[in-house]
Amino acid sequence: MRRRCENFQQIDVRQIDFGRREPWQYPPPSGIAVSVMGDAVHVIHGSADLFIAIERTACNYGGSRPWFLCPGCRTRRAVLYHSVDGFECRHCMRLVHTSVTEDKFDRLRRKRGKLLERLREFDVSPKWKRWTTFESIYQRQLEAEFEAVYWLTRRHRK
Ligand SMILES: [Zn+2]
Repeated sequence: MRRRCENFQQIDVRQIDFGRREPWQYPPPSGIAVSVMGDAVHVIHGSADLFIAIERTACNYGGSRPWFLCPGCRTRRAVLYHSVDGFECRHCMRLVHTSVTEDKFDRLRRKRGKLLERLREFDVSPKWKRWTTFESIYQRQLEAEFEAVYWLTRRHRK
């Protein structure tokens, strides 16, 4: 099974308005904030905050067209995809994806294991405060599990 690119937030260099100086929002519902800065585009999306270099190639009929330089492999790309590490091309995502998701999955599973351990050893006294702690640990292990499952589905969507 191959991961389908449409499942990932993408950014298309042809949508970038290079004449614009002030930051703007990439067409919704992307949630991507863009600002053009010289030969680069500053992109903010969720936890990703990075500069993507722009390279131009001459057109047959004069002028030039811009390309993203993929932060992963430095090749010219029209479209980049949101990944764990920020934005990168289709090719890079396939190459790095498995190991990254496996790392994430394993880390979350270990984290959950430790939290479950704490829950098992928890001294459930009737005190309200201790219940709050118990519930918060319970909640955290649940979240770790949800997140782990999310990474697992990404891993299998290749
Ligand atoms: Zn790349």
